[in-house]
Amino acid sequence: MESRDATRVPWLDVSNSPLSPATTVVAAGRPARTPGAPVNPPVVLSSTYVGAERPGAAGPEHLVYARIDTETWHPLEEAIAELEGADRPGLLFGSGQAAISAVLDLTPPGGVLVVPRHAYHEALVAARQLAERCGVEIRRVDIADTAAVVAAIRGSDGADGTDGADGDAGRPADLVWLETPTNPMLEVADVAAVSSAAHAVGAVVVVDNTFATPLLQRPLELGADVVVHSVTKYLAGHSDVVLGAVVTGDADLWARVRQRRVTGGGIAGPFEAWLALRGLRTLALRMERAQQNAAELAGRLREHPAVLAVSYPGLPDHPQHDLAARQMDGFGAILTLRVRGGAEAARRLTEEVRLWLPATSLGGVESMLERRRRWPNEAPSVPEDLLRVSVGIEDVRDLWADLDQALVASQAG
Ligand SMILES: *Cc1c(COP(=O)(O)O)cnc(C)c1O
Repeated sequence: MESRDATRVPWLDVSNSPLSPATTVVAAGRPARTPGAPVNPPVVLSSTYVGAERPGAAGPEHLVYARIDTETWHPLEEAIAELEGADRPGLLFGSGQAAISAVLDLTPPGGVLVVPRHAYHEALVAARQLAERCGVEIRRVDIADTAAVVAAIRGSDGADGTDGADGDAGRPADLVWLETPTNPMLEVADVAAVSSAAHAVGAVVVVDNTFATPLLQRPLELGADVVVHSVTKYLAGHSDVVLGAVVTGDADLWARVRQRRVTGGGIAGPFEAWLALRGLRTLALRMERAQQNAAELAGRLREHPAVLAVSYPGLPDHPQHDLAARQMDGFGAILTLRVRGGAEAARRLTEEVRLWLPATSLGGVESMLERRRRWPNEAPSVPEDLLRVSVGIEDVRDLWADLDQALVASQAG
């Protein structure tokens, strides 16, 4: 088991130049090429493994029990790590939320946790619960305001004050939680600047990379220590599995998160891991098409008389457009939309769409939209009329025709 933490993806050893991510998603996680071997990994359904009591009687990588480790996770764990540029395997979890909880637990009791004011709402709930349980101090920041984030990281020793941060801001941070772009407000954090400020005080930097995927953004290369994913979304991509992952190149953090998986027990099922690897094969194609569609729709929506506002990091008037252009290899396929007529008109729109799915979640092949404030836990600073729009891979003309008729109908109330 332990030796897995040092191994790289074996097929890479034959290649001197790094492969393009579009190739890696197709090629990573294949079984060894021996004659008669399958080209896809098998699904192994076994809760336990033949034991060897004497140390060294079995190889160092021998499997023991499927909650601790199981070979059906490995191909996907290695593929995600390769995509994120980590030199140890990813750690799969039963959901993105299980991955988030395991990583939040890296915060020491009584420590300081910096979180975005807007982020995946359940992550913020988990942070709050951690604060109540373990006396952790939470500082909520506008993640796009780098000076405020840095001040919150440094505490009162920082030179810039603590505008935008809650709490007494006395001590430096222990853990900095970033999500970029944020769910659902699409704020973009400067990962490199935040990471260097965090490392100066010894804090760990975590990035939820669900919206961008490693194809568009590699936080570890920008200086972050840990990446978390809701694999449920783009990586799996077909709205048919719930799964999460943690990636880090740091041996100590890797071991601690892995231990949290063993004791927390929020593990991935073998079928889900297999399905997600199959979904990953088309990630580059899906992302390319979805992103094209999103850019096209963002431009058209801005001109629509029923639309109050559109936000998309690819639009030149997005407040962090330049940062996103520098930090990312593309602007993704999520946008937000505010409809004229308030929450009621936004709700009507979700009832009038025929092709678009009115549903929570995102990152699937099918286009979805949702009024986020229908969730009581969503931040009150998210506008009541804001729709989060996850653009899929359908023909953009059909997507537009449906959206256009639903926008017109939303104004009829
Ligand atoms: C959906 C989501 C999560 C939670 O993941 P699950 O797989 O649903 O548990 C975490 N972060 C972001 C950004 C998400 O969109």
